[in-house]
Amino acid sequence: MERAKERLVQWLKDAHAMEAQAETMLKGMASRLEHYDELRHRVEQHVQETQAQAKKIEQCLDRCGAGTSALKDMAGKTTGMGQALSGLFVGDEVVKGALAGYTFEHFEIASYQALITTAEAAGETEIAEVCRGILKEEEAMANWLREHLPVVTRAFLAREGMDQPAKR
Ligand code: MG
Ligand code: FE
Repeated sequence: MERAKERLVQWLKDAHAMEAQAETMLKGMASRLEHYDELRHRVEQHVQETQAQAKKIEQCLDRCGAGTSALKDMAGKTTGMGQALSGLFVGDEVVKGALAGYTFEHFEIASYQALITTAEAAGETEIAEVCRGILKEEEAMANWLREHLPVVTRAFLAREGMDQPAKR
């Protein structure tokens, strides 16, 4: 159980870095979008959720007595997944951005599933509950993107077909 607790703390820190990176990518995407209002609004909403998620993770670390000062060391660190996807996000093309977002949400979903299992193994049921709440938000965002990818793609193709600016 002690080992599980140590692992939990480490993975909570990773999750915090993941959320910081999510915030950067989502904010960048929202600020660039000009012609896709529905997508931009949903992304902006998820920026708010993402900021709140980072706070919740900090509270979980406090609960573990881990403190949050160590998070500063993590600030510059990025997840490999985020690194791989950031090119698509900054590629400044709405369809690529949407599918990068969809992929990143699934990375988050998998991360919280592992965190929930680890929190339970460590006897930290409240932390497991918090992670379940965050998991629901990530799943909702992933589902929204899956449903709207065809809409966004069609809108992109229609704009391009009419020689209107389509990229963002
Ligand atoms: Mg998140
Ligand atoms: Fe997310």
